[in-house]
Amino acid sequence: MKFADLHLHTKYSDGTFSPEELVLQAQKAGLACIALTDHDTVEGCAEAATAAAAVGMEFIPGTELTAEHNDTELHVLGYFLDIRNKKLLAEIAKFQAVRQDRIHEMVKRINAQGVPLQPEAVFAIANCKSPGRPHVARAMVKAGLISNVDEAFERFLKKGRPAWVPKTKVSAMEAMDLVHQAGGLAVMAHPGLNRTDDIIPALVDAGLDGIECFHTKHSTATAERYLSIADKYHLLVTGGSDCHGFSKGKPLIGTVRLPYEHVEKLKAKVAQRAAAVT
Ligand code: AMP
Ligand code: ZN
Ligand code: FE
Ligand code: FE
Repeated sequence: MKFADLHLHTKYSDGTFSPEELVLQAQKAGLACIALTDHDTVEGCAEAATAAAAVGMEFIPGTELTAEHNDTELHVLGYFLDIRNKKLLAEIAKFQAVRQDRIHEMVKRINAQGVPLQPEAVFAIANCKSPGRPHVARAMVKAGLISNVDEAFERFLKKGRPAWVPKTKVSAMEAMDLVHQAGGLAVMAHPGLNRTDDIIPALVDAGLDGIECFHTKHSTATAERYLSIADKYHLLVTGGSDCHGFSKGKPLIGTVRLPYEHVEKLKAKVAQRAAAVT
């Protein structure tokens, strides 16, 4: 049996592995195929593709776009993207600018709480175009302002806390169109986390291709629930660990194992769509 992990992050967003380290860890986990899905970027995909090719592993270029529908945040995964697509790169650059502005705003609010964090400290830790809250948390830990990342989220960064800043987000429909015009498939990420089941029919009408049934934070019952939803709406099935690096000494990569037959179905749909265009 061959397996894939289709939800992975690197240091190009809020993960800690380089693309090369990610591929090495994927090899250790015995995976035949991986997809890189960094938040609002495709920057690590070329490096990951090269590293994967060197060890004979299949690689799918992807991203995880932060989007919204009816004021609910949801994450749209894009797979099989043309990472040189001009519109994709132009729009992603805008999302990254929003993320960078948001770091300044979060730091201001943290400062207003009497905590002397510098924005430069966050950008130095992030060292990427797509910074986010985990980088703010890590910078606070490094500066000795709090003791761990969880504390940063609990006290400052999670929704409703003093430094929580809502992000201006692309609509889910626009995110899916962006993925499609770049030759990709649009998949709803970890629906069990966002509790957004009521919007699934609207997304399906707008061209949603698949749904992430298997995820680290989905129980078996949750996975089964989304498998039946996938069946009902004729959606492709995906899954991944959402690994961000080492957590508690071990990386999550490969702990969610998607049977390869699902990758074959994804590839068939991409091929079918490409054939319809030409
Ligand atoms: P952002 O995209 O900047 O809003 O940051 C979202 C990321 O922060 C997610 O992808 C998670 O990796 C991480 N995150 C969200 N909530 C928490 C939390 N309570 N504790 C630790 N990390 C979190
Ligand atoms: Zn993340
Ligand atoms: Fe996500
Ligand atoms: Fe993710």
